[in-house]
Amino acid sequence: MNTLKRIDPRRPFTLTAEGLKRITLGAVGVADAGAATLSAARRTAHHEQPKPRRTIATPNHVLLVAAHAERGALDVHARQTLAGAALIADDFTEVVLLVFGQFSGDAAALGADKLIELPMFDCRTYAPADELNALAACVAAYAPTHVFLPDNATGDGDLGRRYAAAADASVATHVVEIDAGHVASYVRANTALAYRALPEVVLLAPNAVDPKLPFVGAGERVAWRFDREADATAAQRAVRDLGIDEIDAAQVALEEADFIVSAGNGVSDVPAFERLAGTLGAAIGASRVAVDDGKFTRDKQIGATGKTVEASVYIAFGISGAVQHLQGIKDCRHVIAVNLDASAPIAKRANLTVIADAQETIAALNEAAAAARGARATSAALLEPGRLAEGVLA
Ligand SMILES: Cc1cc2nc3c(=O)[nH]c(=O)nc-3n(C[C@H](O)[C@H](O)[C@H](O)COP(=O)(O)OP(=O)(O)OC[C@H]3O[C@@H](n4cnc5c(N)ncnc54)[C@H](O)[C@@H]3O)c2cc1C
Repeated sequence: MNTLKRIDPRRPFTLTAEGLKRITLGAVGVADAGAATLSAARRTAHHEQPKPRRTIATPNHVLLVAAHAERGALDVHARQTLAGAALIADDFTEVVLLVFGQFSGDAAALGADKLIELPMFDCRTYAPADELNALAACVAAYAPTHVFLPDNATGDGDLGRRYAAAADASVATHVVEIDAGHVASYVRANTALAYRALPEVVLLAPNAVDPKLPFVGAGERVAWRFDREADATAAQRAVRDLGIDEIDAAQVALEEADFIVSAGNGVSDVPAFERLAGTLGAAIGASRVAVDDGKFTRDKQIGATGKTVEASVYIAFGISGAVQHLQGIKDCRHVIAVNLDASAPIAKRANLTVIADAQETIAALNEAAAAARGARATSAALLEPGRLAEGVLA
């Protein structure tokens, strides 16, 4: 019998609660060297409810994870980064999470022992120098052995590089493989992996870590004051934030869209669907059948042979959820399905399934949006100086 596993040597291992793993063709390969750093207790705890607290005996080390929040939450990539630090942390190490922006998530469930929230850093504000000062101040306060950030294009990757340069710290970027002993990044046009010991700053690529943790952290919220003005130098104050240019959601590349409404074979009233997308400020996606039918252009197709999307919210109208379609939405955070058939495969993937007719639901949502817009216009008009008395008397 052929027992040889066909393993692609260029494919990195993923850090999981059971150690480093990689998917081989039809099997899961486990890394041997240093992979079994996690205890059997953690392994068995994986399926237990509620999850136990990760044990920390008088911590004498800190791992710091910094990330931006969006609408009060960390995205998958940031959660993977935090989970990576929590999985690497030994029994004498605390994991401190520094969040830029408001955070209303469960830090303990994500693996953090301490949470520092900096709500003044709204992710819509460009303040790279202030954020660098805040991170440096946090490093000075906690003296972490390593600082982890998601290597993304939405602020964290930039902040990590700025910090490493300013602090003259060792850094690894685009890290695709990590454990307590090493990191690895692709080199030579992705044909080989380069390894090194954990540097001071680790910028993690997406999917290097499985964020499912068998334990929770302490999740203690720390009141930490950061005086933005006091810490800014004159040169830093010279940076002017020119604000955000809002663009039409329809112009956003599907791969970058945060909110997508998608139509399948069950959508017959395409103009109403497109009107809804415009009203909600959502990008438009479609299943292959809807594209093949000529209802949408090919660039709107989502799935194995279309686009892969990572929206925070994905609403699927009249889409069955064939495996090829699901492949394209695997990284979406909240999936809402509107379908007549409660047993459609999309319902298994969806966080919320509305069993209803797509046309009726779209029409109701368009009506609700129009009513909300009307109410807002009325209250704005009533607040006009000349209209105030009229409004109050009416
Ligand atoms: C090699 C290959 C690659 C493929 N790549 C892709 C890809 O990239 N993307 C992709 O999407 N597909 C892809 N497909 C096709 C895929 O297998 C499915 O055929 C396709 O996704 C089905 O599209 P659909 O769900 O819109 O249509 P259907 O399968 O026809 O499903 C329509 C759904 O809408 C519901 N419905 C019907 N009427 C209503 C209504 N009035 N209100 C509410 N719900 C209603 C039905 O219950 C059903 O669940 C691929 C297939 C192959 C073989």
